[in-house]
Amino acid sequence: MDLGIAGRRALVTASSKGLGLGCARALAGAGVHLVMNARGAQALEAAAEAIRTEFGVAVATVACDVTTPDGQAAVLAAAGAPDILVTNAGGPPPGMWHDWGRDDFIAALDANMLTPIALMTACLPPMIDRGWGRVVNITSVSVKSPIGPLGLSNAARAGLTGYVAGTSRQVAPHGVTINNLLPGIHATDRATALDGAVVKAKGIDMAEAKAQREATIPARRYGTAAEFGATCAFICSVHAGFMVGQNVLLDGGAANITL
Ligand code: NAP
Repeated sequence: MDLGIAGRRALVTASSKGLGLGCARALAGAGVHLVMNARGAQALEAAAEAIRTEFGVAVATVACDVTTPDGQAAVLAAAGAPDILVTNAGGPPPGMWHDWGRDDFIAALDANMLTPIALMTACLPPMIDRGWGRVVNITSVSVKSPIGPLGLSNAARAGLTGYVAGTSRQVAPHGVTINNLLPGIHATDRATALDGAVVKAKGIDMAEAKAQREATIPARRYGTAAEFGATCAFICSVHAGFMVGQNVLLDGGAANITL
C-alpha cells in the first residue's frame, strides 16, 4: 500500500532504539524525511546513518534530553514545522506507591505528559495552517489496563490521554489528526529492564522471566518494533485521516484478560 506521505517531514523523538526507532524506520520506508533524537549521540547517529543508507531519505539528528525545555527547543529548531510528529521518551521506573514523592511525579509528568504536550503546542499551529498534519504519541497499555508497579507511568500517561481526547477533536476540523499508540510488551531494552526487575523480585533467570510474561500474552510472544512502527506509519498515512483521538492498543491481546 502506498501510504501517500513520501516527501513529508517528521520529527520522531527518543528514536535511536526500540519503538521510536521502529516508527522512524517505518516512516523512512514510506519516503518521509526525518529529524531523530535521543540523548546518546553515538547510537543516534548510527541509527540515522543506517536509515539514510537503507531508505535514501534525509535524516537530521539532535542529541539531547527531550524532556527538558532546552531539549524541546533544540528538536523543534531542527525540525522547523514538521508534517508529522511522533512523541516518545523513556518510561518512568517501576516501584511501590510509597517510594514516590512529588519530585518523582514531576519527573514522570515532565517526560510522559508535559513533553508531548509542549511538542504538540509548537507543531500544531503550522499543521493547522497547512490543513494537514499527523501526531502519534507513544503511550502505554497502562492507559487501558494499569500496571501495578508502574504507578508513575499510569498517572502521567492518563494525563496525556485526557489532553489528547479534547485536543484531537479541536484540531480535527483542520485536517490534523492526533492519536495515541499504546504498546503492550515489546522486545526492546525497556522490556529487558522490566524483565530484569522481575528477575530481582522473584529470584529467577531472564529466560524464565520472559517465558512467564509471554505466557500471559494470548499471542504468546513479545511484539516487535517493526510491527509497532508499521502501525505508526499507517496512522500517519493519507488513509488514516478519519482516525481521530484514538488509543490504538498493540499488545497481542494481553489487556483485560484472564488466561
Ligand atoms: P527503549 O528501547 O529503552 O528506547 C528508548 C529510546 O528513547 C532510546 O532511543 C533512548 O535513547 C531514547 N530516550 C529515552 N529517554 C530519552 C530522553 N529523555 N530524551 C531523548 N531520548 C530519550 O524503550 P522502548 O521500549 O522503545 O519504549 C518507548 C516508550 O514506550 C517508553 O516510554 C516506554 O515506557 C513505553 N512502553 C514500552 C513498552 C515495551 O514493552 N517496550 C511497553 C509499554 C510502554 P537514549 O537513552 O540515548 O536517550
